[in-house]
Amino acid sequence: MRIIAILILLLCQAAYAAETVNDVSGMNPIEVARVLAPTELSQIVAAVREHPGPIAIGGARFSMGGQTATEQALQLDMRDFDEVLEFSAERREIRVQAGITWREVLEYIDPYGLSPQIMQSYANFTVGGALSVNAHGRYVGQGPLVLGVRALRLVLADGSLVEASPTHNSELFYGAIGGYGGLGVIVDATLPLVDNSKLVRQSQLMPLNEYPAFFANQVRGNPDMVMHNGILYTDDYDSVRAVSYLRSDAPLTIEERLVPSERSYGAMRTALALASSLGGSKVREALVDPLLLKGAPVQWRNHQASLDVGELQPISGPGYSYVLQEYFVPEAQLESFVAGMHRVLERHRVNIANISIRHAKGDPGTLLAWARGDTFALVLYYRQGVSPSERAAVARWTGELIDLAIAHQGSYYLPYQIHASREQFLAAYPRAEEFFALKKRIDPSNKFRNKLWDAYYR
Ligand SMILES: Cc1cc2nc3c(=O)[nH]c(=O)nc-3n(C[C@H](O)[C@H](O)[C@H](O)COP(=O)(O)OP(=O)(O)OC[C@H]3O[C@@H](n4cnc5c(N)ncnc54)[C@H](O)[C@@H]3O)c2cc1C
Repeated sequence: MRIIAILILLLCQAAYAAETVNDVSGMNPIEVARVLAPTELSQIVAAVREHPGPIAIGGARFSMGGQTATEQALQLDMRDFDEVLEFSAERREIRVQAGITWREVLEYIDPYGLSPQIMQSYANFTVGGALSVNAHGRYVGQGPLVLGVRALRLVLADGSLVEASPTHNSELFYGAIGGYGGLGVIVDATLPLVDNSKLVRQSQLMPLNEYPAFFANQVRGNPDMVMHNGILYTDDYDSVRAVSYLRSDAPLTIEERLVPSERSYGAMRTALALASSLGGSKVREALVDPLLLKGAPVQWRNHQASLDVGELQPISGPGYSYVLQEYFVPEAQLESFVAGMHRVLERHRVNIANISIRHAKGDPGTLLAWARGDTFALVLYYRQGVSPSERAAVARWTGELIDLAIAHQGSYYLPYQIHASREQFLAAYPRAEEFFALKKRIDPSNKFRNKLWDAYYR
């Protein structure tokens, strides 16, 4: 009898063995009570109904500040919940489970000549993670992912399954998209698809002060413009290389339909390594990028869409991590924000590897919208040390940049390290109290938690 009791105890302990989860930055180890990787909807519903403590939700774990976990939580690791549920080439629409990655979506739809309307710059992320941060990419005339979703289904804190769209349960739709797993588990989503057209790449160098007019006159209104971003050179922060991908009928110069998953990306990695060494941005501007971006290659849209984060440096290693941050400012504020950002980054000697400029159309109504109107986005990719003092130094300059963005009527992106004070968060996300009121109503016991909501939700 005693042996059986011990066996049962051991089995229970094994089932609930604490596990440490982390994200790609390697900087946020969090001991959760248990990780469950559901493959069936019924497992998610049962876990939400029966688990007595907090529940956190993980996608591909590219967020970099503990947004997928909190201590003692049950973490739902969604990566095996990754089936295509419905697809219609005629209706140009796909319904997928939330743990599927964009790469898997691309592999499924590419043979039909179709492409996602909006996704991030890389294909490694899950659709559920992308929806929950309201992600964006380089698509011209588009913006936050909410503009490219028809409907989704959510499991709420009481275990009920609800459908939400812009016209049905719209409060849930606009709360869950960009809601960082705070309202429930997104289990599937219906996404519109567009043509996988051929694209030709063009690039040109210009002073920063000419870029907004260039964007307004040659990018925004150009019906053939599909993808666009600017590279901001950080030796003196006053020149931009505009990189555009336009629809084209020219013969393909890159025949591959998708970038092979095992691609090494050596040239791009070298360019970024150069840029993060002293004076490297000048070398990159004058020598490396003109070579990397030479000619006018013609490729499929899905080829660009299928890039892998392997293009970047190893994201983390002993004692360091390459980390992202992103700031959003109204179009008219770009130059002034860049000047202020330059001063902050230089004063704090930040080791910048890359700054990309993107554009997004205003958000149609998510409660945690980062684009409250047409917006330029500045994506900073930098290297930092991970000791407590190095992290504290990053927190200081990040706080200054957040204040700067707020002073420019802008905002900052939430999937990265959580350095903002609650006041900064509320200033950058003025509808956060509406989000919190909704959460209180549908998740009264604060079941859905992670480090982001632990920091700001009271
Ligand atoms: C190298 C790199 C490049 C990036 N590029 C871009 C970019 O181009 N554009 C951009 O917008 N962002 C970008 N990001 C930022 C961001 O981390 C990702 O957009 C997004 O978080 C990735 O999805 P994921 O599957 O990794 O989500 P995770 O990091 O796993 O989760 C993100 C959030 O979503 C929640 N969540 C995940 N799945 C669900 C679900 N099914 N239901 C409810 N909540 C859920 C999690 O709880 C968490 O709060 C990048 C990040 C890195 C590290």
